[in-house]
Amino acid sequence: MFKMTPNILRNLITDKATRLYPFETREPWSGVRGELGVDIEKCTFCGICALKCPTGCLSVDKKEGLWVCDPFVCVYCGICVESCPQKCLYQELVYRKPAEANEKIVMKGEPPRRKKEAET
Ligand code: SF4
Ligand code: SF4
Repeated sequence: MFKMTPNILRNLITDKATRLYPFETREPWSGVRGELGVDIEKCTFCGICALKCPTGCLSVDKKEGLWVCDPFVCVYCGICVESCPQKCLYQELVYRKPAEANEKIVMKGEPPRRKKEAET
């Protein structure tokens, strides 16, 4: 008990080392690999991001114009962002919020063929 007394006293007067996450969050560091997003208007549904993804959490349906990500499987490595030829993938400076249900991120865009047909 006497050995612990200095520690107990120090802990009473110093700031807590932990936070009440997710209610209290820290400022993100610069260059943090946070929440994954896609600018679906620019996406050509080439599927390169899905091919390069090491966890297989992305799927792309060119015919339907669908880009789907399973956020529970994504490790936020950023490889998809680096490999996208259209530069339409990005990572925000915030981490994804904790979730109870595994809801996939489904983005629907215009498949390239339909886009061309609409333009002619
Ligand atoms: S996000 Fe980029 S790499 Fe992925 S399908 Fe769209 S254009 Fe291709
Ligand atoms: S950040 Fe990494 S794990 Fe997540 S979708 Fe992109 S390549 Fe896959």
